Amino acid sequence: MTALVIAEHDNARLKGTTLNTVTAALACGSDVHILVAGHNASDAAEAAAGIVGVAKVIRADSEAFAHGLAENVAAQVVALAGDYSHILFPATASGKNIAPRVAAVLDAGQISEVTKIHGTDTFERPIYAGNAIATVQSLTEKNVITVRTTGFDPAAATGGSAAIEQIATVPASSKSTFVSAELVKSDRPELTAAKVIVSGGRALGSSEKFIAIMTPLADKLGAAIGASRAAVDAGYAANDLQVGQTGKIVAPQLYIAAGISGAIQHLAGMKDSKVIVAINKDPEAPIFSVADYGLEADLFTAVPELTKAL
Ligand code: FAD
Repeated sequence: MTALVIAEHDNARLKGTTLNTVTAALACGSDVHILVAGHNASDAAEAAAGIVGVAKVIRADSEAFAHGLAENVAAQVVALAGDYSHILFPATASGKNIAPRVAAVLDAGQISEVTKIHGTDTFERPIYAGNAIATVQSLTEKNVITVRTTGFDPAAATGGSAAIEQIATVPASSKSTFVSAELVKSDRPELTAAKVIVSGGRALGSSEKFIAIMTPLADKLGAAIGASRAAVDAGYAANDLQVGQTGKIVAPQLYIAAGISGAIQHLAGMKDSKVIVAINKDPEAPIFSVADYGLEADLFTAVPELTKAL
């Protein structure tokens, strides 16, 4: 039985989520191969070859894969699928875009957001915004899986020495073309990969106050900045900072929530964080039920004091 991991990368570097997906794949199959579908992505392929536990890197190089268009990558995965019992993607925006296309063409059951693997066909996944865990058994020959990366430790990025095989690529799909990408450039760590996250909620009151209060704390801690959906919807923080059921799923070493009530949809995105600190002036706020450290205080006093003390 062999599992295929679809690498997430920017042609030069592998994204960290690929490492967690390899760990999940190792629990599914005896051999793990990685597909690096990209353009001039030899560096990403080299990096994949170094991951401990990976037996083979399959490199598909074509301009059609330069921007990771789902239609093109899905067609390449389908072309390779015959050799694999398990095909795994990180449950990121990109993985969630490609996996269903592959599952549909293969007539395979898709198992989404897997957090634990019990065997070759039995998996755990959260349902109802993480309030219940379902154990599901797949009955199809091929298993197309998206992996909730916070559920698996990353595989060691170096120390492996897998062979790299270059394969013939499938033609580009005519259904989509790349037009442009607008990427936010930031020196901060990426939210889903950050070890420390400071997150602000509706209580911040405006984007000016959000920046004035949360940024100095994030700077002191070298942290990524997150936000509740209420803060995002109100325009206090950018869309891509949203943590939660309809935002990003994170599990940093330290998560500091300031002025966030702790609605289940927010908790669904951060409750697996190692240490949770909540600052809220309402002692009844549900965030305190998941917090390791709770500070009942006005954030406009407490956060600057904390920043100063650091
Ligand atoms: P509020 O609930 O308004 O809480 C503000 C908190 O700040 C309160 O607890 C208050 O006591 C405290 N506070 C006020 N002033 C101060 C002060 N000066 N100092 C300290 N504390 C103060 N939400 C998400 O976050 N992420 C998601 O992905 C998400 N997805 C959703 C999906 C669906 C389908 C639905 C229906 C909802 C979703 N939500 C999500 C919204 C969620 O239900 C909540 O509305 C949202 O999380 C509330 O954000 P908040 O905690 O910032 O605001």
